[in-house]
Amino acid sequence: CPKNGGLKGNEQCDKAQNATLSKALVGAAMKNRIVAIDSDTCDAGDEDAFFVADLGEIYRQHMRWKTHLNRVKPHYAVKCNPDQQVLRLLEALGTGFDCASKAEMDQVLSMGVDPSRIIYAQPCKTKSHLRYASKTGVKQMTFDNSDELHKIKGLFPDAELYLRILTDDSGSLCRLSQKFGASLDTTRELLELAHRLDLNVVGVAFHIGSGASDPQAFIKAVQDARFVFDQAGELGFTMHTLDVGGGFCSETFETMAGYLSEALDAYIPPHIRIIGEPGRYYVSSAFSLACHVIARRTVTDPTLGTTSYMLYLNDGVYGNFSSIMFDHQNPIPRVLSIGNRYLYGQLNNRDGYESPNMVEYSIWGPTCDGIDCISQSCSFDDVIETGDWLYFEDMGAYTKCSATKFNGFSDTHDVVYVSSEPGASAIIGMI
Ligand code: PLP
Repeated sequence: CPKNGGLKGNEQCDKAQNATLSKALVGAAMKNRIVAIDSDTCDAGDEDAFFVADLGEIYRQHMRWKTHLNRVKPHYAVKCNPDQQVLRLLEALGTGFDCASKAEMDQVLSMGVDPSRIIYAQPCKTKSHLRYASKTGVKQMTFDNSDELHKIKGLFPDAELYLRILTDDSGSLCRLSQKFGASLDTTRELLELAHRLDLNVVGVAFHIGSGASDPQAFIKAVQDARFVFDQAGELGFTMHTLDVGGGFCSETFETMAGYLSEALDAYIPPHIRIIGEPGRYYVSSAFSLACHVIARRTVTDPTLGTTSYMLYLNDGVYGNFSSIMFDHQNPIPRVLSIGNRYLYGQLNNRDGYESPNMVEYSIWGPTCDGIDCISQSCSFDDVIETGDWLYFEDMGAYTKCSATKFNGFSDTHDVVYVSSEPGASAIIGMI
């Protein structure tokens, strides 16, 4: 993702100011929390890793979405990070929600959200979850195969159906079309079956893959969606909505939104409602994670005469760094504190920073598994010891939602909330 893709000069300036304020708040919140922890005397778990979430970031992402993609109504993909405060803020901002399961629908509905704001965007549904959708009135849902149409006919014949089509997701971080999506040579057959079963197909859905980088994929998907709209029209359906899925990432948002908007204007008539299912775009940058250094191993190389260190943290790939395995992420370690010195904001070699005193580290998680490695190599100016703290930015997407209890470590971690945006603070105050 190229930095600042498509941003105008004044937008870049605002972005820099917002980032400075956000970092100041996040750094202060981390410091406040860790000064209260004495790892020599604390109870087990008091020194656990914790998040700091700047809800102002999420508010700004929403405003940015409205500026650049106003025709598309976002339905936040809950799977990405089902944090309750995030959902409450987005609910207040008026987004819809993309839910993948009964638990996600339940979480959103229990906040008082009207079922019409939810899309059950799972083409292959569990029957009992589908019955729950029927009972609670979550009518909008996707499908991509004939078995699913028969299932829906039996359990929820009044559902509002979106035919999910295959996309070219080869340029994305997480490919989804290997698993979901009807190819264009099967869509007529599926629509004919839906017609025979007297089902209500109201739209087309696609997803160009999570963490997408190729704008051409959006253009092709919109063209294909138009093809299916025309097919459905010939069969007597009056479809009214296109769901453009997720895949947006913050770094390239303006560029991708530009291509998508042009394609929508070219191929999709203005009376068609457009929705999207962004996940990582909303939450990735809002969450930072602070981790405690629980152990250190010194590694000397007598031949080269070098000393490096292996640092062991109290969070790893089986915990909030699950994003390394499942989301192909490469989180960058940063120093939060060394003894009583707070070094929030210090750069390391992975930021391009170099100095003659650099010390090399590899960073590991707390479990007994050898694959539990967060970073094979990074360098800082300082010697880090057991008891110090590191932190990682951009930890909001596909992290805590897929953490496990492996080796008996906790799968839930505290979140300290801050807000660098008055608009978000006002809403949070009302919650
Ligand atoms: N919608 C569906 C159906 C998905 O499967 C996903 C992610 O897997 C999303 C939306 C969110 O994607 P992203 O976080 O890339 O925006």
